[in-house]
Amino acid sequence: MSSIKKIIKILKQETKDFSPTLIEQIIKKYGKNPFLILICCLLSLRSKDIVTINVCHTLLKIAKTPQEILSLSQDELEKIIFKIGFHKNKAEVLHQVSHGILNRYNGKVPANRESLLKLPGVGQKTANLVLGVAYRVPSICVDIHVHRISNRLGLVGTKNPEETETTLKKIVPQNYWIEFNELLVKWGQNICTPTSPWCSKCAIKKFCKRIGVEKSR
Ligand code: SF4
Repeated sequence: MSSIKKIIKILKQETKDFSPTLIEQIIKKYGKNPFLILICCLLSLRSKDIVTINVCHTLLKIAKTPQEILSLSQDELEKIIFKIGFHKNKAEVLHQVSHGILNRYNGKVPANRESLLKLPGVGQKTANLVLGVAYRVPSICVDIHVHRISNRLGLVGTKNPEETETTLKKIVPQNYWIEFNELLVKWGQNICTPTSPWCSKCAIKKFCKRIGVEKSR
C-alpha cells in the first residue's frame, strides 16, 4: 500500500469520533443542498467555523433559496450575518451569487467548475468543495489545513493552494479526492494545528517530514 493510502486509512480511523466539519453539520441538518453548501462555504471564508455555523443557522432559518436571499435588502442581510467577518462584503456576494444562479443558471447551482467560477466570489476552493460534496464530482478542495498539512507531511513542497491542488491530484488516488479535504480539516483542527501541532500524539508522524520542527507539543 502506498504511503498516501496508509495516511488516508489512518486518518479515517483516527478522525471518526472528531467533531463534524462545518459542511458536515450543514448537510446533517439541511440535507445535501448545493445552494446551501455554496452559501455556507462563502460565509465561512476567513471566518472561524464556530462563528460561521451559528450565522449559517440564523440565515437559513430566514432564507434558503436564491429567491429568499434576494427578497432581503442588503441592509437586512448584513444585519442577519453581522457576527461574521467581512459581513458587508459577504452580504453583497450572497446577493450577487443568488442573482447569478437565478438569471444565468435557471436557479440551479451549476455542477461544473467553469460555470461555478463565473459566479461572483466563487474561487477554486469553493468550487471544488461544492463539486465534490454536493455533486460527487472528483475534486480536491485545498483550504489552509490541506495546504499546511500536505506541506508538513512532505506530500507536496508548494507555496500556494493552487500548486498544492495540482500536485495532490497527481499523487492522491482519485477515489480519495473528495474525502481528503474533510480528513485534513479535522486533523488540522485537532492535531496538526497551525501553531504548536500535537506531534507527540500524531498517528501519522512516521510519514511526516516536519515532525517536531513547528514548536510542537
Ligand atoms: S507529526 Fe506534527 S507536523 Fe507532522 S503531521 Fe503530525 S502533527 Fe503535523
